[in-house]
Amino acid sequence: MEVINGHKKWGFQGNPELIASSISVRGVLTKLMANRNKDDKRPTIPLGRADPTEYPSYRTTPVAPDAVADATYSYNFNCYPPTVDDVYLTAGCTQAIEIVVSVLARPNANILFPRPGYPQYEARASCSKLEARHFDLIPEKGWEVDLDSVEALADENTVAMVIINPSNPCGNVFTYQHLKEIAETASKLGIFVISDEVYGHLAFGSNPFVPMGVFGPTVPVLTLGSIAKRWIVPGWRIGWIVTSDPNGIFHQSGGALTQILKHTKEDFYSKILTTIRGAADILYDRIQEIPCLTCPHKPEGSMVAMVKLNLPLLEGIIDDVDFCMKLAREESVIVLPAFGSNPFVPMGVFGPTVPVLTLGSIAKRWIVPGWRIGWIVTSDPNGIFHQSGGALTQILKHTKEDFYSKILTTIRGAADILYDRIQEIPCLTCPHKPEGSMVAMVKLNLPLLEGIIDDVDFCMKLAREESVIVLPGVTVGLKNCLRITFAVEHSALEDGLGRIKAFYHRHAKKE
Ligand SMILES: *Cc1c(COP(=O)(O)O)cnc(C)c1O
Repeated sequence: MEVINGHKKWGFQGNPELIASSISVRGVLTKLMANRNKDDKRPTIPLGRADPTEYPSYRTTPVAPDAVADATYSYNFNCYPPTVDDVYLTAGCTQAIEIVVSVLARPNANILFPRPGYPQYEARASCSKLEARHFDLIPEKGWEVDLDSVEALADENTVAMVIINPSNPCGNVFTYQHLKEIAETASKLGIFVISDEVYGHLAFGSNPFVPMGVFGPTVPVLTLGSIAKRWIVPGWRIGWIVTSDPNGIFHQSGGALTQILKHTKEDFYSKILTTIRGAADILYDRIQEIPCLTCPHKPEGSMVAMVKLNLPLLEGIIDDVDFCMKLAREESVIVLPAFGSNPFVPMGVFGPTVPVLTLGSIAKRWIVPGWRIGWIVTSDPNGIFHQSGGALTQILKHTKEDFYSKILTTIRGAADILYDRIQEIPCLTCPHKPEGSMVAMVKLNLPLLEGIIDDVDFCMKLAREESVIVLPGVTVGLKNCLRITFAVEHSALEDGLGRIKAFYHRHAKKE
């Protein structure tokens, strides 16, 4: 054993898949922050992270903390979250991504991600050994999906495509027509759509936000969401996965399980029942002939029975364990320390009286215990599970329209400032005016600059000289672009863009 500094060599290390997968946003932001000039007395303008919680204009609605306080003090919601029909609660959208990607990762499968995109997807796919392929978003077409590249990338092992709408990092909102084309393309390819709508409803341009779920009749959709962005509480880890699949495609593609449930003939079940019932009869009759054993209740279900041991009738047997040990030794019969007139009644029939979660599996009835297939079924026609959604339900229900519209006005104003100020900075172009989310992609015209190698170099020098933090595009999959978060106080945004302009003038290539 290798011993270093008095302890055994540590046997753990980080997952190299995670480290290898793309340059992390957090890592780059940390580097940029560290590169600031300590002597710059001006406040730092953070245009890198989509977290405006430090600004008064972006304070969440009081409905949200009130709902959390009420739910907490009611003590009714300390349980694990229930699963309601088509909605699965998660710890933020981040966990929704983790779950969906890891569930899809079967050997040889691949998944289609947008470029530029949200690097969390790549990191999870790489961790789960799910092959990531990238289709392009076209800046000249308002960052629409290049559907030809989707068709070119997909093959028989492609499981799904991811869209982010409203878009992070591009700031666009897909039209109804484009979403319809996405749905039709996916349907043609036999893949489903994962729609990341974490910025859902944060649409302030001319395209209204259309949830992908409306195309559920065309293609099965998994919608991922969270309260982080719309309610401006990114530290609150509450998210969800919603299925929109009115045709039950997800269910049909349950594969073997669905086939087994559907196609097993009644006579298989009855034959097995007859066999087991016969065995139960033998057990019960023969037990009668063994004085030291009594069967208090004739078995009428399952495959096992409890039998009482009459120890006083035996000599030299201490207890049940001793009986079983000696029986194994002397007779090579192995027994361990609940069939008849009552028909089996599923508890779910009492759903109208009390909400029921039924757990089951194919292990026992189909006698395939090695097949790891089980299920959870909700029987809750009164929607009790749904009512007990706690704070989240309250927040969704009671947030007033004016909170949403105030936030939208603030973000729209910020997007206008960004777009106008960018026009005045020759080395930057914004191919598409942001109309949703809190971020925009801006192109960097490197030939207009002197001594700046690429987007990372630009951002590092900007942090150093101007204490302005923006994210290099390479971190979201597009080199020599910048991702600028404009959800900051308007004055801070003006200040930040003024500093970027000054930075440009200092580094502009001389004629
Ligand atoms: C912020 C963000 C997430 C993560 O959401 P959380 O609820 O904070 O975990 C997922 N996808 C996109 C596109 C995001 O911008």
